[in-house]
Amino acid sequence: MGNKTIKWEVSALGFGCMRLPIKKILFIKKVNELETIRIIRHAINNGVNYIDTAYGYHMGKSEVIVGNALQDGYRQKVHLVTKLPMYKVKAAGDVEKLCREQLKKLQTDYLDIYLFHGLNKERFQKQVKQLDLVVEMEKLKEKGLIKHFGFSFHDNFQAFKEIIDYHDWEACQIQYNYLDQDTQATTKGLEYAASKGIAVIIMEPLKGGHLANPKPEIKEIFDKASIKRTPVDWGLQFVWNRPEVSVVLSGMSSFEQVKQNLESAGKSGASKLTAAELGIIKQASEVFKKSILVPCTACEYCMPCPSGVAIPRNFSILNSFSSHKDLKRAKKEYKKLAADKDALSTAKDNGMAALCSKCKKCLEKCPQSIDIPGELEKVNSVLSGTRSMDEVYSRKN
Ligand code: SF4
Ligand code: SF4
Repeated sequence: MGNKTIKWEVSALGFGCMRLPIKKILFIKKVNELETIRIIRHAINNGVNYIDTAYGYHMGKSEVIVGNALQDGYRQKVHLVTKLPMYKVKAAGDVEKLCREQLKKLQTDYLDIYLFHGLNKERFQKQVKQLDLVVEMEKLKEKGLIKHFGFSFHDNFQAFKEIIDYHDWEACQIQYNYLDQDTQATTKGLEYAASKGIAVIIMEPLKGGHLANPKPEIKEIFDKASIKRTPVDWGLQFVWNRPEVSVVLSGMSSFEQVKQNLESAGKSGASKLTAAELGIIKQASEVFKKSILVPCTACEYCMPCPSGVAIPRNFSILNSFSSHKDLKRAKKEYKKLAADKDALSTAKDNGMAALCSKCKKCLEKCPQSIDIPGELEKVNSVLSGTRSMDEVYSRKN
């Protein structure tokens, strides 16, 4: 990690603990702790030394399970990073309280990096600036509870630049992949942060998994390349290719994904892709952009919904339909979701888009700034058959 203040060797691949392996017990989904521990330790045994989690991941369970995974000497082998849940910070004193709670859950005395979670313009103004939270982070450093601090980010370049210019940050975490070069912090933001010597950590390199499963049209584009790569490898190599990037996080959910990502990491390097390879990625991204109707990354920050709507699932059915164009299949998937309150189980969050009451409680939680109730209405129109896809998304098609 080449930057001014964090002097350490970090692996190209970091383990993001937001999408851990899941098991179902009587329809209820839970994190599969044994499998999580197995895959995290396998990644560490094979060179991964950066573990990223957050207070809210898996409804608070991620930090606890990561803490368990890092027992038996694994904590000492990694840089452990978690994030301050901004929605819980009402006063400056909350920072230390929350940090201590997180250290306890993670069974550790210190964090290698502590990040303000999901800063955007508003959170930056109303919390970081108004409550002078950087001072609180400095106090945590003085007390030895954290070694470095920074922020994770979801907003636009202007907001990013304003935050970067506010403080001499040590690290920032941004969403970046070949579809998000001009959205979120953007390539300009990535270059700007790196030019200031800030360690840049990349999240969502595969855009919530969208880039891992492209439609046949895109696979054909990749197949034209002289070098053969999987769609996942194309996505990851694109990010590693940027010299400004310190570490790329992947939210790995299975042993197979860990294995594949480790293989990709073994071939990674800055400025390694040829002009022809970058051309292939450009072509693929142009086709991809047309098929993603709702840019949901399935992060689940919007969940649970008080009306039981399975928000990311509804968007994923629509986006898949946009790729495969099989309306019958999409309708069948949609019908598997609960259509009314009786069929609904809030524990499962299995509701159709039609159940959205437009309470708007989810709106401020979405890092992708999706108009969730508005988009759910469109999903319901298309998948219940009242309006056609072309009619609803006419401007995009
Ligand atoms: S606006 Fe709709 S989807 Fe969002 S929280 Fe309210 S009911 Fe749920
Ligand atoms: S709608 Fe937004 S908050 Fe909800 S899962 Fe998708 S990206 Fe995440």
